Amino acid sequence: MQVYVEKPKCTGCSHCFDVCPVAVFEMKDRASPDVNNDVAPEDAKWKGQHTPEVTAKWSNVQDGHHHFAEKNEGGSGGISVAVNGPSCILCQACLVECEGECIVITDDTNNVYHSIYK
Ligand code: SF4
Ligand code: SF4
Repeated sequence: MQVYVEKPKCTGCSHCFDVCPVAVFEMKDRASPDVNNDVAPEDAKWKGQHTPEVTAKWSNVQDGHHHFAEKNEGGSGGISVAVNGPSCILCQACLVECEGECIVITDDTNNVYHSIYK
């Protein structure tokens, strides 16, 4: 299994980290040197630019999470990195919880799963 986060869309909500039963994700500060330490392709790496549509949707939502914060504080904020993709068991819990709809999973027969927030 390969897992990555499309980082320009990541709100930092930490839902993926909270729900994953096998610790695929770690939350990193956006300035962390290992912020791109998963298999994301070049256009999905964090380069300091948020996706405007995602920012517009989530920046004013008050749900107790730090959205678009530079640092990971109090359980949310920062950015998610899929540091442990090969451990994914495709339970799909993260795929329905991801605010930024930015998790991409490829299984061993090359089926690709994208997150859709519900
Ligand atoms: S689908 Fe994979 S990465 Fe997502 S929560 Fe389940 S085990 Fe974790
Ligand atoms: S659930 Fe999605 S938007 Fe939230 S921290 Fe994880 S990857 Fe980022």
